[in-house]
Parts: sequence; C-alpha cells; structure tokens
Amino acid sequence: SWGSFVDKNVYDWSSEDEEQDTRARPVQVLVVKDDHSFELDEAALSRILLAEELRDREVVAVSVAGAFRKGKSFLMDFMLRYMYNQARDDWLGDPEEPLTGFSWRGGSERETTGIQIWSEVFLVDKPDGTKVAVLLMDTQGTFDSQSTLRDSATVFALSTMISSMQVYNISQNVQEDDLQHLQLFTEYGRLAMEETFLKPFQSMIFLVRDWSFPYEFPYGQEGGMKFLEKRLKISENQHEELQNVRKHIHSCFTNISCFLMPHPGLKVATNPHFDGRLKEIDREFIGNLQVLVPWLLGPKNLDVKEINGSKITCRGLLEYFKAYIKIYQG
Ligand code: GDP
Ligand code: MG
Repeated sequence: SWGSFVDKNVYDWSSEDEEQDTRARPVQVLVVKDDHSFELDEAALSRILLAEELRDREVVAVSVAGAFRKGKSFLMDFMLRYMYNQARDDWLGDPEEPLTGFSWRGGSERETTGIQIWSEVFLVDKPDGTKVAVLLMDTQGTFDSQSTLRDSATVFALSTMISSMQVYNISQNVQEDDLQHLQLFTEYGRLAMEETFLKPFQSMIFLVRDWSFPYEFPYGQEGGMKFLEKRLKISENQHEELQNVRKHIHSCFTNISCFLMPHPGLKVATNPHFDGRLKEIDREFIGNLQVLVPWLLGPKNLDVKEINGSKITCRGLLEYFKAYIKIYQG
C-alpha cells in the first residue's frame, strides 16, 4: 500500500542520515575468499571489542562450528534470545514470533565461509561476583570438497583458538569422520600456537542434532556424556589410527561434553516458508532447547577465555585474533 511505501521511505531517509547503524546485527569479521586467502575486518572487530565498557572485561567467547545447513545459526538465534532475556523464565518468547538474528535458511546453496560475531556483547554477572563479557560467534564452513575442507579447517581452527566454549554441531551421530575432522582442525590450530604443557583449548561440546536413538541414550547432557564416553573410548584392540584420533581429542580440551538433541520436526527441516516461530517446532525439541541453552550460557557455566593459563580480556582477545590470523596468512 501507499502508506507502507511512504513509511519505508521516511525510515530509509532517517537511517541514511545516521553515521553508523547501531542496531545489533551479525558482523562478518573473517572472510575466506575464493582464492583461499582470508581477511580479518580489524576495524569492525576493534569497534566491538574496544568499546569502553568492554575492553578491560574478561571475555567468554562462545562459538558454534560444523558443516553447513545443520542448524547452527538457527540454534545461535535461540542463544541470542536467552542472552537478551537473561533473568526471565520465559526467555524463549512468544510462540508466534519469527526467529531473527544470525541468518539461517533452508536450501543447499553454499554461503560465504568465515566467522560472524554478534555486534552486541553481553555483560553478565557471575555468581562469584565477577562481571564478564559474553561474545557469540557463528561460523560458516562447507566441508564438501578438498579445497573447501582446507578453508573450513582454518575457520574451525581459528574459532576454536579464539573461543572458550566451542560447540561442535553434528548431524545425527558422531561418525568416525567427524572425529577425524576434529583431529585435523585442532592439530591445525595447535601447530599455530605457542607450545605449552597445558591443554591448548578449553571446552568442547559435541552437539548431536536429530538424534534418533533416545531409547539407547536419552536426549540431553547425561545421555550425551554416556554416548560420547563410548564413542571416545580407547581400547587395546582398536586400530592404531582410531586410538590416535581419540588420544588427540582428549589431549586438546580441558572439558569435553555432549548433548543429544531431538529432531525439530518436519516444518523446520523442510518447509521453505517456515520463519522460526516456536509454534511450529516440535515440543520435544523446545523442551530440550530449554535445557541446552541455559546449560551452555547460564551465568555459572560461562567459562572465561584463557590462553596459557591466563584469563583474557576483550582487548586481549582482539590481539590474539590478529596474531593468529597473521600465522595463517604466512
Ligand atoms: P547452518 O548452515 O548450520 O547455520 O544451518 P541453518 O541454521 O541456516 O539451518 C539450515 C536449515 O536447517 C534451516 O532450514 C533450518 O530450518 C533447518 N534446521 C534448523 N535446526 C535443525 C535441526 O535441528 N534439525 C534439522 N533437521 N534441521 C534443522
Ligand atoms: Mg549458518
């Protein structure tokens, strides 16, 4: 209608006048280009991490990584809802409200490989009285061919090095090649870091989506831990290669955990018009989302980023980000 046409124009004019768009949004801080080189948007990253109220705060960096089109950004948007509604039991929000934030979508087309961060960093009071800054990172990788595997390895390695909590998002099951990828990516990261007697990374959370054997291992974190223990078990009669993958993973992370998530229902998985509203998501999925997100992001569970045993501030994280990128750029 004319009304909305006029309104839109008025709105566009006013936003053009503003120097900078200050609304919270995803910011692409790392891009892997077609020639496999990558670029860090240092200016954008500095604008966010050097804000006066943040720069000297200890930082918790939460990342979600894994193959594309497996619901990473979709999950991230629920994490955003939780962060925006911290104190409330009804943080999941209105059943009819479309899901917004990082862009998530159906289809099988590939998207830019890289790292996006949410422009708003959240200040949270931990039960021990400290105030920490929480940074949410969404990654995009494809894992679909040799050439893109290398790009994905870079993105995965960097996001693991930069984060204090890495969520490894996997579909249906933890297969041997998921473990091999993790070994490759973390080795890629570890080589770039200073040698230390400490484990190089902090928390690794295996998040299995569309888990379909709840009668063997129930949904959630306890079922997940039992399942993962079995998958990561090292035994004498295993092939040496299988043993090495498992030893490597154990040696890289201080904490390893796992959460088994049910399928969200056919509307989420296949309906091109689905806009993320809760009403159309299976109840079982929502119930587990209500456990998963506070388990990851509840104030007492937030792990401050440490490098070589020292806690890192937002300002420090920016410096490490820049240093790590230089190593990969060679
Ligand atoms: P990303 O590439 O990993 O970030 O995936 P997106 O978050 O963009 O989601 C890709 C598609 O998967 C969308 O159509 C979502 O509706 C759908 N999706 C989201 N979560 C799940 C899930 O847990 N299981 C399944 N099967 N589909 C999901
Ligand atoms: Mg995505």
